[in-house]
Amino acid sequence: MSTTQGLKVKLFIEGEFVESQTTQYIPVTNPATQEVIAEAPCATDAEVERAIAHAKKTFETWRDTPVPERARVMMRYQALLKEHHDELATILAKETGKTFEDAKGDVWRGIEVVEQAANIPALMMGETAENVARGIDTYSYIQPLGVCTGITPFNFPAMIPLWMFPMAIACGNTFVLKPSEQDPLTPMRLAELFEEAGAPKGVLQVIHGSKAQVDILLKHQDIKAISFVGSVPVGQYIYRTGTEHLKRVQAFAGAKNHSVIMPDANKQMVINNLVGASVGAAGQRCMAISVAVFVGQSKEWIPELASELAKVKPGAWDDPKAAYGPLISPQAKQRVLDMIQKGKEEGAECLVDGTNCEVDGFPNGNWVGPTFFSKVTKEMSIYQQEIFGPVLCAVEVDTLEEALELVNSNPFGNGTSIFTTNGAAARKYQHEVEVGQVGINIPIPVPLPFFSFTGWKNSFFGDLHAYGKQAIRFYSETKTITARWPETDIDTGPNMTIKLQ
Ligand code: NAD
Repeated sequence: MSTTQGLKVKLFIEGEFVESQTTQYIPVTNPATQEVIAEAPCATDAEVERAIAHAKKTFETWRDTPVPERARVMMRYQALLKEHHDELATILAKETGKTFEDAKGDVWRGIEVVEQAANIPALMMGETAENVARGIDTYSYIQPLGVCTGITPFNFPAMIPLWMFPMAIACGNTFVLKPSEQDPLTPMRLAELFEEAGAPKGVLQVIHGSKAQVDILLKHQDIKAISFVGSVPVGQYIYRTGTEHLKRVQAFAGAKNHSVIMPDANKQMVINNLVGASVGAAGQRCMAISVAVFVGQSKEWIPELASELAKVKPGAWDDPKAAYGPLISPQAKQRVLDMIQKGKEEGAECLVDGTNCEVDGFPNGNWVGPTFFSKVTKEMSIYQQEIFGPVLCAVEVDTLEEALELVNSNPFGNGTSIFTTNGAAARKYQHEVEVGQVGINIPIPVPLPFFSFTGWKNSFFGDLHAYGKQAIRFYSETKTITARWPETDIDTGPNMTIKLQ
């Protein structure tokens, strides 16, 4: 029987899908109805320890598995994920509420990382230099670290686990995944397909739970590297605790992404892009555009943008007319409603108000309609905090320089975009903006996996980012070898300096 059916979500430990011995479970709900569709166990300390111990044991053999063989597992995995694309998207849509097409996108962006992991033989090649001294050559190898772990958020339950374990495992590491307790069914199906692709038992382990389980991973002496994606406070906690325990940590966190609208931009392109990038996925994307910065006369487009946003309707995952789904939980919905209320109290002008949103047939869904504020200032909470809901804030400035100043003074630096037909303005923006991912006439510039996902400032704690070449460096050590193979005996006496002879 599939582990993703039935009420109790299983753990994946020692290559087996097993029921946890815990007595504590977290309900997994359909956010459009509140129906409990599964229960995620809070793995016991002993189960987390077993997962780590087995990952450590499996590392002994997996690290020596030839690189092309590791690549072939990824090739088979990629093919299986594609074959099961619709099925995975259905599981994902049911537990997150995302529309089916958006859920397919979530899976697809993960498949692309697996394709990159299948290139591992070329990616893990080191460097060589001949004759660095007379008769001496130097070359480097890239070797795996050991047991790595990943702690993932609710909003991309396929893509974000797939940012992590395929790259880490392709490098020769073993992996313990702790997915979000709010939508663990998709990651479990990913794990089943990984096993089906021929990954040896124990290379990947999946445990469930929340802070208590994560704490064991953060402090465990056998965990060598920690990848985290989630909110800022938890990201800071993970980074501090992991590094305090002398581990490598990459922690991707929250965001406040600005889109700068120059008056020379193509108006229709701007409006279409802003609508999708702000309220798509109910705004629950770390790269969502949450602030539109109108430069000069482009502010005249605000009423038209408002009327387009007002037409957008959320709905259930399998309603083809739905533009986006519900918020992940009643608590998340309440938080967004509170932020909207604060925006009104602080003096922003609410042009589109999604507060009393209803969807026919789904009276209990966590719905919030598209919401659009104009006259937003830097001092307001709706500008300063990540809302993580379908809410767009408009700020007006006079010049590109002012727009740059605003974006650069924001503590977040995940993504940004500029809409313009002026190459010089685009060039100035891309060069001077202090944000790690920049789109030019592209609202959500998430790089494909041959690059890396390069958020800056409070959107990322660490130095090496997810996927691409940076992931290879994050999940590996470099070993540099300096070798001399003399053809005849040399006797130059002891060398008392550090100079190679
Ligand atoms: P979250 O921080 O609540 O949870 C993320 C993970 O951390 C989950 O697995 C959770 O179980 C665990 N966790 C929660 N509290 C913990 C604690 N006190 N100690 C240890 N672990 C804990 O995040 P979320 O609500 O699932 O995800 C939404 C957030 O993720 C948003 O802020 C969003 O911007 C961010 N995000 C960032 C990126 C990025 O690449 N920068 C991508 C996606 C999401």
